[in-house]
Amino acid sequence: MNEKPAKPLPSAYGLTLDDWIEWALAHDQTKFRAKQIVEWLYIKRVASFDEMTNLSQPLRELLKAEFVISRLPVVRTTGSQDTTQKFLFRLHDGRLVETVKIPANVHFDGGQSDRVTLCVSSQVGCAYACQFCASGLAGFTRNLEAGEIVGQVIGAEIASGDAVRNIVFMGMGEPLANLTQLTKALEILNAHWGLNIGARQMTVSTSGLAPQIEKLALIPMQIRLAISLHGATDEVRDQIMPVNKKYPIKRLFEALEVWRHNKKQKVTFEYILIEGVNDGLDQAGVLAKRARTMNAKVNLIPYNTVEGLDWSRPDEERQEAFLSVLKSAGVTCTLRREKGHDIDAACGQLRLQEETAEGIIASVAE
Ligand code: SF4
Repeated sequence: MNEKPAKPLPSAYGLTLDDWIEWALAHDQTKFRAKQIVEWLYIKRVASFDEMTNLSQPLRELLKAEFVISRLPVVRTTGSQDTTQKFLFRLHDGRLVETVKIPANVHFDGGQSDRVTLCVSSQVGCAYACQFCASGLAGFTRNLEAGEIVGQVIGAEIASGDAVRNIVFMGMGEPLANLTQLTKALEILNAHWGLNIGARQMTVSTSGLAPQIEKLALIPMQIRLAISLHGATDEVRDQIMPVNKKYPIKRLFEALEVWRHNKKQKVTFEYILIEGVNDGLDQAGVLAKRARTMNAKVNLIPYNTVEGLDWSRPDEERQEAFLSVLKSAGVTCTLRREKGHDIDAACGQLRLQEETAEGIIASVAE
């Protein structure tokens, strides 16, 4: 008879300080022990419980029996230190996630950052099936645990040798479909006892899950919100983003009003320009009106080809024409011009190639 494989131990990176305090008290330890544990994990960055030398041996054994310090192993890296780098991390169940590091001094998301930005995944695969996206191609496998989200940041810092000071949840998956684990990860990333990354330096991007946007608006953290809009009308969004049938633009914008009211912050609209689909000047006009109503910033991103998909990017003249409609309407807007930043539509491609090669999933190009 086949025995069921043992359940893997939870990642130590998935607990907040309150969780550690609760754990410590439940094991007849003081709160102070919880503080020592997080200090070893995030400040001293130890790789094993044995290195936590100011904890008693029995306590270290207890930790070893209940948790793992899950430094995600890198399966593949593409790019180099001063360019966009993609890391493919292996999870405990053999599945893969992709994490992308964008170096400092590179235009990203409409600004020039002097800090390293990391594009993090929130799920393995994605159920939302946006028609232009590699991550949606092979469907949804599972949510990432908070410890696996935090583990990507720590793994990328170790692999690249750079500290991450900006995070965008724009990798594989729909972050708001994994809201509980996302919120926990945000707390650990932001906390002074954790990775100490400023809330304003973290952007959550969603395809438009309106009720979850309203829930996210309630968390007491000034994180930023980006909407993968990619179409200014229901007609266009319906064609390329099935989520729009459930939450059409009117419902999405109601949620954005809640966000604006609670956070007093601008949102960003991400708009991938796809030839013949959403790049018409009529769309630019409607997009400009919508952005003005919301006082939103717009990031235009020329489409990057995805293996197995037929879409293509409009030529530069058409991209510039689209941009100028927005600019002349007074919208704060950027057009990503540099090459090599294939982190949007192409995100998820590396994982697809590797999982297909390893036989974890069937070829999606078939
Ligand atoms: S664009 Fe985002 S929400 Fe849409 S399929 Fe890709 S990962 Fe999922």
